[in-house]
Amino acid sequence: MSDYSSEVLIVGGGPAGAALGIALVRQGREVALLEQTATAHDKVCGEFLSHEAAGYLESLGLAPRALGAVAIHGVRLHGRKTIAACELPFPALSLTRRTLDEALLTLAQQEGVIVHRGQRADALTRTRDGWQARVSGGAEHAARTAFLATGKHDLNGYRRPRGKQSNLVGFKMYFRLKAAQMQALAGWVELFLFPGGYAGLQMVEGQQANLCLLVTREQLAHGGGAWNALLAHMCASSAPLEERLGGAVPLLAKPLAVSSIPYGLLPDEIEDGLWRLGDQAAVIPSFAGDGMAMALHSALLAAEMYRSGASAAEFARTMRVQFRTQMRLATAISRLMVSAPVAAEAVRLWPGLLGRIAARTRIPLPVRMTGLPELRHNGAGLG
Ligand SMILES: Cc1cc2nc3c(=O)[nH]c(=O)nc-3n(C[C@H](O)[C@H](O)[C@H](O)COP(=O)(O)OP(=O)(O)OC[C@H]3O[C@@H](n4cnc5c(N)ncnc54)[C@H](O)[C@@H]3O)c2cc1C
Repeated sequence: MSDYSSEVLIVGGGPAGAALGIALVRQGREVALLEQTATAHDKVCGEFLSHEAAGYLESLGLAPRALGAVAIHGVRLHGRKTIAACELPFPALSLTRRTLDEALLTLAQQEGVIVHRGQRADALTRTRDGWQARVSGGAEHAARTAFLATGKHDLNGYRRPRGKQSNLVGFKMYFRLKAAQMQALAGWVELFLFPGGYAGLQMVEGQQANLCLLVTREQLAHGGGAWNALLAHMCASSAPLEERLGGAVPLLAKPLAVSSIPYGLLPDEIEDGLWRLGDQAAVIPSFAGDGMAMALHSALLAAEMYRSGASAAEFARTMRVQFRTQMRLATAISRLMVSAPVAAEAVRLWPGLLGRIAARTRIPLPVRMTGLPELRHNGAGLG
């Protein structure tokens, strides 16, 4: 006998899990959601909110600008020196995950999702009638259908396969910039290439700058795995980054980090009946700034397919078909950025290339789903 039971159980309350919860309760379903963190928290993320992601949030009833999101109008690419800059063909935004994820979970709760905070699922098993999750405190949750939305964290027994680019470690740090640095960065997302990785820098709400980067394990090991050594390597390799961060004050005691990111992962053939969403299903390289849009897209698509009686396997196949082209392209470019950053000089010779690459790595819109606005596939953004 379980301690709790519901029609649907969602494990993980990031953008994918929370959005799915909202969509399912609006279908009149009884939904429980387990989220391991007890309060709002920071996450490793560039916090670039693409046009598509913002559109999905608005369709759910959440206005990123009202939450303090700042506008991003252009993208700059830097190597040793500045390589290219272009305007985004649509307004993008920048919002901390601390603010966004909490707002989504609060909305889910207000809409009627039974949100269990501070509850980490340790095990998820198939039962005769559906699924059963055991949480860290020992309580058992039973449900007819389970959705796995644990993002970057793999649940015991559900390890994701390696992606196509799996040797990168992600870091994030907030900085307080000097006034002139802040002014130069305002409204832009900036990408910096350095040997062994790349970094993104943009302002977020609260006058903070988010530096989020990916570096190979090998490059990290060169500096003994130390954050300061990595930062020094990046600044020594890119004069524009040195200019932006010189004298800037770090705002976290230490950077947030994540490893074993299976970039290039696409939904696999699945037979266990478990619906996998967001980063549990597909992981697009971060430079594309599309991860949150994909997570929200997967959630809303799953809700619609669940409503129509489709199976988890059919959902996985649909996701695979929708994302495979962008995923292949984004992964190939991400590999090039890391292993041959000099190739980015091509962008200097062909300035339109930056916009073209970005446009071709967008998620596949329009999406025709009940209650969702028609969003046009219209352009570029890097994050
Ligand atoms: C370096 C880096 C930079 C990125 N930059 C961007 C960007 O600029 N723009 C963008 O759109 N995307 C970006 N992304 C991608 C984006 O962060 C993810 O795609 C997105 O967070 C996926 O959402 P999700 O809901 O699937 O997972 P997550 O956001 O990871 O949420 C999963 C949730 O599940 C909870 N959880 C985990 N395990 C358990 C458990 N066992 N029990 C209960 N709860 C659990 C976690 O606490 C978490 O709240 C970046 C990713 C990386 C690594």
